[in-house]
Amino acid sequence: MSKKPLIEFTDNGIYCPQGKFYIDPWKPVDDAVITHAHSDHARWGSKRYLAHHLSKEVLLYRLGDISLQTIEYGEKVLMNGVEISMYPAGHVIGSAQIRVEYKGEVWVISGDYKTEDDGVCAPFEPVKCHHFISECTFGMPVFQWKPQQQLFEDVNNWWRHNAANNLATVIVGYSLGKAQRILQNLDLSIGKVYTHGVIENTNEALRRNGIILNETHRITPETPKEDARKGIILAPPSAVGTPWMRKFGPYSFGYCSGWMALRGAKRRRAADRGFILSDHADWNGLVSAIDATGCEKVYLTHGYTASFARYLSEIGFDAHEVHTLFGDDEAVAPSDNSEDAIGINPQEANI
Ligand SMILES: [Zn+2]
Ligand SMILES: [Zn+2]
Repeated sequence: MSKKPLIEFTDNGIYCPQGKFYIDPWKPVDDAVITHAHSDHARWGSKRYLAHHLSKEVLLYRLGDISLQTIEYGEKVLMNGVEISMYPAGHVIGSAQIRVEYKGEVWVISGDYKTEDDGVCAPFEPVKCHHFISECTFGMPVFQWKPQQQLFEDVNNWWRHNAANNLATVIVGYSLGKAQRILQNLDLSIGKVYTHGVIENTNEALRRNGIILNETHRITPETPKEDARKGIILAPPSAVGTPWMRKFGPYSFGYCSGWMALRGAKRRRAADRGFILSDHADWNGLVSAIDATGCEKVYLTHGYTASFARYLSEIGFDAHEVHTLFGDDEAVAPSDNSEDAIGINPQEANI
């Protein structure tokens, strides 16, 4: 007797028919359970949302006046008899893996995740399940992250060097996640942190949510240019190449993204420095996270799904590729579609 699967992949997104809810749906639905507040996972238009409480203020800021219920990690809620709970995904503040259980069958939908503890968001926690739905944004062996501490030593040395040479420092990372991770790891004995409005709006939302962040100074038309030039300017990808950014010149411009591991990515963005900093798991992180779930089946939603599914099958997993509309929050510019934008292919990788 074949029974209906607890989770289905539909045109609206990942769906639980028994519980009548979607996870990170890409079309408006009645009940949306949200893994995290990035725009490709938390979309506008659904009737009711359920998310982790640390996603609350950013979701309200980004999606407006939505009907939102929030829960804590480990807390359980029932929806039409199906148990939903959330566990840390280690991706950005408030990010959660969604655990769904019904009659002893357990699915975990990871959303986006990172296995390294970044000290800013709750660290990733493996959750045992039968079925694991995983992203694989960086599911190629070329992607191996340096420990964060080493990476930020490079960032701080670069900033110190710029400050000593009368160069302004502009560091670019997306506004939810990367920006706070950079902010919390800067050496503030070098100078002050100045923020682009898009980043500061997100910082303010997080502070309203009770998150304590280092001091920042919002850049406004009144901000003396020379003050910002003495500190470090934290900007989102959308600011790259704009007059807003150019007015701080001469500067050194550093870009933070996992894609910086690929040869040519820095040059294509005209960045002076590429810092390989990602809020996604690297190759080893993905493989170890999947292994730690003890799952019977793994479904790959976005990233290098085909090649990664092939690899997992070779080492004994029952792995499947699933088509979804999740995007790439590490894309090198907001309009970029990562793979097209930087012409990424395995041959080009810096192995
Ligand atoms: Zn994300
Ligand atoms: Zn994603």
